[in-house]
Amino acid sequence: MKNKKFYINTIGCQMNVYDSEQIAERLQRIGFVMENRVEDADLVIVNTCSIREKAEQKAFSFLGRLAKMKREKPRLMVGVCGCVAQQEGQKIVERMPYVDFVLGTQAIERLPAAIERIERQRCRIVDVNMAQEIQETADIPTCGNPHEISRFVTIMRGCDNYCTYCVVPYVRGRETSREPENIISEIKSLVANGVREITLLGQNVNSYGQKQGLCDFPTLLKRINDVEGLLRLRFTTSHPKDLSDGLIAAFRSMEKLCHHIHLPVQSGSNDVLARMNRRYTREKYLEMVANLREACPEIAITSDIIVGFPGETSEDFEQTKALIRQVEFDSLFAFIYSDRPNAPSGRFKGKVTEKEKKQRLQDVFDLQTGITQKIHASMKGTIKEVLVEGTSKKQVAENQGRAIDAVQWTGRTSGNKIVNFIQNHVSHVDTGIQVGEMVRVRIEKTFPHSLRGSLITGDSGHSLAKGDESYAA
Ligand code: SF4
Repeated sequence: MKNKKFYINTIGCQMNVYDSEQIAERLQRIGFVMENRVEDADLVIVNTCSIREKAEQKAFSFLGRLAKMKREKPRLMVGVCGCVAQQEGQKIVERMPYVDFVLGTQAIERLPAAIERIERQRCRIVDVNMAQEIQETADIPTCGNPHEISRFVTIMRGCDNYCTYCVVPYVRGRETSREPENIISEIKSLVANGVREITLLGQNVNSYGQKQGLCDFPTLLKRINDVEGLLRLRFTTSHPKDLSDGLIAAFRSMEKLCHHIHLPVQSGSNDVLARMNRRYTREKYLEMVANLREACPEIAITSDIIVGFPGETSEDFEQTKALIRQVEFDSLFAFIYSDRPNAPSGRFKGKVTEKEKKQRLQDVFDLQTGITQKIHASMKGTIKEVLVEGTSKKQVAENQGRAIDAVQWTGRTSGNKIVNFIQNHVSHVDTGIQVGEMVRVRIEKTFPHSLRGSLITGDSGHSLAKGDESYAA
């Protein structure tokens, strides 16, 4: 396989981003090199998502493009991985004669062997076997951008919650947690390679370790918090039913834990929540939000909403809007409900019309946009700790008739807000700021999706503090 090029198209959540890194690492081990242009690749893999109909359509439309490419370049190898691969398996190779292999969510470790077999025997492979245990990474993925300062680390896979609309338990299997020692050693290696921020991934990180009798999630966080050289720690996703007092307290006590939680509520109606099998009520959810804000007043809370779940009446939807107004989320991911293969809600009565679903989605967007703008506007004049991720663009500005260089940097606050800031009067060679450094920025302008400010220079400018403290300007 020496010097053969691969291209991966990743669709879906952060879990798929992490899996694509794992896929790339295994391909590099057998001599492949990463290619950024699909047209120049010898092997193209689409890492699919089936959580929503739209994501699945995206995968099939990309695969349609590959059919044409394969006609022009018959030796091109095409693979399908991820949730759609797991769900559809054999049907994909039957429907798409140009696909060489279909590997399910737990077959990444077997990818090199599959490719070698295809090369040798010119055969096609479908492997959707569900392994019982997580295959540990033998080496740390090397495929990420060497300048990346933020990386994902999976701490568990699968899910046991069986929310009635969700395919994850069927396509990613039962919940399994990784051993804490393996997680810590992966993080230490990433930090040694320059990574400064880690986002821990799991379908429900709050139940980490419980099934296998490992340590609980706050204990794992504490151990990661102690890793030297790491500046920031994030996690996603948290199921509200398992949000513990220990985790809430962690936001107060762990200096590297970012002040942000993604806590999907899905609906503000208790009837809908019960039919979704979410196992909490709106009252319980609101209590959790209050407890989080008491422990960490500046915490940013984001959430997911599904509109048009079967049987969702206009009164149910009004309750969702009322909850959004009451909580004032920092931002929301809102989705239109769609029936998914295997998910029980596909058989539920009371389907909401497409027109009504679209209207409800728009209502949520409009409501949330106003709330986000209000929250952002309240940040004007405050000073934020920003972890520098890179330059967003270089500009040449005019200053009193003389051209000067100005570099626009980008980074994030602890609350996960994107901040762009300009640094004037710098040379191209030495800007004085480095990617992965923590700086302080005074917020001067706010937008719906980002903030803009100016660097606080002097002793107070560069800092290794980890919080997201706001100071009155
Ligand atoms: S908690 Fe529910 S929504 Fe989340 S992955 Fe598990 S089944 Fe799906």
